Amino acid sequence: MNHIFARKALIQKGWMDNVRLTVRAGKIDSVKDNVTPEPSDFVAGVVIPGLCNAHSHAFQRALAGRTEERSPAGQDNFWTWRERMYELAGRLDAAALAAIARQAYAEMLASGYTSVAEFHYLHRQPGADDTDDVMFHAIRAAAESSGIRLTYVPVLYERAGFDQPEAEGHQKLFALDLDSFLEHHGRVSEHTADRIHTGIGAHSLRAVSQDSMQAIADASDAAGIPVHLHIAEQQREVDQCLSSYGRRPVRWLLENFAVDERWCLVHATHLDTDEVEDLATTNAVVCLCPSTEANLGDGLFPLHDFLSAGGRIAIGSDSHVSINPFEELRWLEYGQRLASRSRNIASLQEPHVGRELFSRALAGGLQASGQTSRGLQVGAPADLVAMYDDDPMLVGHGAASLLDALVFSGYRLPIERVMVHGEWRVLDGDHIDRADTRQAYTDTLQRIGIAS
Ligand SMILES: [Zn+2]
Repeated sequence: MNHIFARKALIQKGWMDNVRLTVRAGKIDSVKDNVTPEPSDFVAGVVIPGLCNAHSHAFQRALAGRTEERSPAGQDNFWTWRERMYELAGRLDAAALAAIARQAYAEMLASGYTSVAEFHYLHRQPGADDTDDVMFHAIRAAAESSGIRLTYVPVLYERAGFDQPEAEGHQKLFALDLDSFLEHHGRVSEHTADRIHTGIGAHSLRAVSQDSMQAIADASDAAGIPVHLHIAEQQREVDQCLSSYGRRPVRWLLENFAVDERWCLVHATHLDTDEVEDLATTNAVVCLCPSTEANLGDGLFPLHDFLSAGGRIAIGSDSHVSINPFEELRWLEYGQRLASRSRNIASLQEPHVGRELFSRALAGGLQASGQTSRGLQVGAPADLVAMYDDDPMLVGHGAASLLDALVFSGYRLPIERVMVHGEWRVLDGDHIDRADTRQAYTDTLQRIGIAS
């Protein structure tokens, strides 16, 4: 049993002072405010719930910072980046994936993410003809050793495009037929545990047929688990969908599927006005990954209109050019400010943008990862972040502006400890296994020829 005393904590009923949390068997056993600490308590300055990273491709951590030079052709875009990503995927065996994912997950924990939805299409090692789930086990092992809460979201990838029925080139590492995919999902679902959950998904509308998409939606229904897909990240895929299906991607999805709160639409970047309204009313979550979307030149999501219509959002670090939830929230707001030449866009329910973005990302992330209990309350998983209240970033900030300070006033985070399922995984601001994790990551990058 653990006891945590926080001079200030964001619990289910809001910011409270002098809060004592008791943790038992991975869950919060009691929450009391306006109390005094006991001698054995861990005393923290500020405690907040951990956030869910609702969209991750862990292996792409090894690509971050390595695609920023202009190519000889000089016309770099998402699709040229994708070739570099495919090239990396072609080097990864299960051991490499495990080491890279472990590093990514350790960094997530150290920045305040306590759970991750791993959107996984890398189903094969190079040269392997069949699927033996080794890439799933690599992800599971990385989650277990780092301590992050995992929602494993296997996604189907069965074709190169709307009018290309076969996967091409490196995509063959991703490709499964529907039956093999559903069998994989069935097998991995048997590995669910306290910190290991499953979802299901499709890579995108262009990569999956309508019949297969329906089978995936049915599997989500039957198991009561989230269903994820990339939906409208690039204008080119919107144009291709219009050409092949006669509808924009979100419109087509809404017309053909019973989209509801189990759905997580990743990168719903390109929406027309009617799609904004109609998608918002489904209670589906839109997962936005602002640092990746900026890095890849995707475009800007119509955040204000979507939130005004009642839409729900989550955030993800996606390609891991940034692993910092507060930076994602900052750029989510900054993109809108730059486009609209105004300020404080995402403050529709709360006067403070940081508080509102954090609350929305917390709720949306839990929904997208299939977790039911919200925030720090009795019965919820003990997934939390303890911060120094004497850090200059937080000094003098009360409940109203504390999250504004975290989102908008710096890059370095004042995190002292992070707990997942009742266990401290970050101490003194870094992951408890940081040395081993970094060494394994470095060795792996050298072995696969990414680093010298
Ligand atoms: Zn993605």
